[in-house]
Amino acid sequence: MAGIIQLLPDRTANQIAAGEVVQRPASVVKELLENAIDARATVIKLYIKNGGCTLIQVDDNGTGMNTFDARMCWERHATSKITKADDLYNLNTLGFRGEALASIASVSEVEMKTKCAQEDTGTRIIIEAGNFINQENTAATQGTSIAVKNLFYNIPARKNFLKSISVETKHTFEEFQRIALSYPGITFEYYNQGKNQSKLESGNLEKRIHDLFNLKEDELITTNEDTDIVEIKGFIGTPKISKRTRGNQYLFANGRFIKDPYLNHAIISGYSNLLEEKKHPFYILFLKVDPKKIDVNIHPTKHEVKFEDGQHVYTLLQSVIKKTLGTHYVLPTDKQLLNAIETYPSLNINDRFATVHSPNVDTSFNPFGHKKPKTPTNWEKLDAILNTPINSPKQKTFFTQPEKETENTENNFDIFQIQDTYLVAKINGKLSLINQHRAHRQVLYERYSSEQAVSSQQLLFPRTLELSKSDFALYLEMQQDINALGFDISEFGQSTIIINGLPSELSKADGSSVIIQIIDDFKTNFQDLKIVKKDALRQAAAKNAAIKTGEKLNPTEMQALTNDLLACKQKTIDQSGKPIMVKLTKQSLERFFQ
Ligand code: ADP
Ligand code: MG
Repeated sequence: MAGIIQLLPDRTANQIAAGEVVQRPASVVKELLENAIDARATVIKLYIKNGGCTLIQVDDNGTGMNTFDARMCWERHATSKITKADDLYNLNTLGFRGEALASIASVSEVEMKTKCAQEDTGTRIIIEAGNFINQENTAATQGTSIAVKNLFYNIPARKNFLKSISVETKHTFEEFQRIALSYPGITFEYYNQGKNQSKLESGNLEKRIHDLFNLKEDELITTNEDTDIVEIKGFIGTPKISKRTRGNQYLFANGRFIKDPYLNHAIISGYSNLLEEKKHPFYILFLKVDPKKIDVNIHPTKHEVKFEDGQHVYTLLQSVIKKTLGTHYVLPTDKQLLNAIETYPSLNINDRFATVHSPNVDTSFNPFGHKKPKTPTNWEKLDAILNTPINSPKQKTFFTQPEKETENTENNFDIFQIQDTYLVAKINGKLSLINQHRAHRQVLYERYSSEQAVSSQQLLFPRTLELSKSDFALYLEMQQDINALGFDISEFGQSTIIINGLPSELSKADGSSVIIQIIDDFKTNFQDLKIVKKDALRQAAAKNAAIKTGEKLNPTEMQALTNDLLACKQKTIDQSGKPIMVKLTKQSLERFFQ
């Protein structure tokens, strides 16, 4: 009896693959440019017409193909780049799937001319909607020219999906930029509607960035660190040139442009409060890892990759940004300060960081001259704290009579608050600086994680809050966990909740806005940072319930907070790797006065 299962015809299979590989004209640009690079071209020209919807053409002076390969390359799974599955773990080329050209040809009209060094004449091939139309000899110089015309003309549904010509054009240029950044040694030209819009002569990365973004030298800071796990190279923008819109952020992994919200977060948090709220920094960073430790095969367009050591890469990246900014964004006295500060070595990553990275810094490079940024930076704040003793009698005693205070018991510290933000305490004979918000956040986070009952305070007037449908669904899913944190919330109707009680830490807060904020932070933690659900919620709740920066604390509160922090499992670095507490040792203090 005949079964009902059939093999898909090649053309259909290619069109299905095209659905993944070719999302829009810019995807074709990416594939063609990458092929030209893999063919070792030194000059690559890209021509776009009508956002790439009518024409995308890439001309290169690479190896070219012989008559046989010129025909073969349009077949599915046709690749010259890997011969066995093992090669996948040692890739040195951008392509390897052998499906880009077949996919592209199945949804467009293609004309290719190519010639390799070994043959006297070139080959010209025409393919329409995956059907082979013609192949002939033609006069040509070495290299390949592929013109992709009328993209999606045979799949109207996909064609309708495209955005306006200006939007698609923008995407093609972005793709061009990413690739041009990654290969500054290659000359690239971009033509739109027949007019040259960008000509990038080969050179180094600095020149390429300059040609593309027209930035001044002192607006970029060199980043160059090498660790066992990852090499991080490139440039980051000064906080001054950060923008309201997330535009110029380029992260590459082994030469491929990647989109990685998790690592993007590492970079942003490396800037910490050097960035004004809602501003996005400029960066162009190249990560290099052992090809065996990165999986580029998880997504057909290869914009997403997976690192074996993802979490370590996160922490290292964050530390490198911090250090790059810290070293370059400060005046000489601050540099001295930077050396003097010892972060408690709670993360071994920081240990290796301190030893592996310090010597590589180009200390002569100070792009800022003597200008200081307008908004106070971390370092300036710290500087302020450390400079106050000279004028402040309270602190003077603290500095000049350190020995007298050694009788401090564990739970009664000499302690005071600076700028309503930091606590300065003497703990075990060492001067310690504590970030009050982060400290409390950690205390609460550990309390929530311990799953002990958390006390809750009933509200005199319960509040109702209407949520969006998706937030309400999220709430229902997390209801039990939310109430376990000391909230007393129940649902009411289609998408409304009633807040009857709050954790005691939040008794003074406006219940509704705190809940909205927690849901929002939860989503970021969970979706962008990929933290497990329960933990994402605990972190979100801890963040919003914690004492804020700028809140005045009385001596009892300061003592209690410090004691609570010292009782934490993790006291020195918070969940995202930012310092909670730093200490100055005797030696480091002495260095100040040498
Ligand atoms: P992949 O790049 O994954 O191998 P493609 O479908 O993009 O698959 O290309 C198939 C093959 O065609 C490549 O492996 C390469 O041998 C050849 N090819 C494609 N573009 C070029 C080019 N511009 N110059 C030389 N050879 C090319
Ligand atoms: Mg390819």
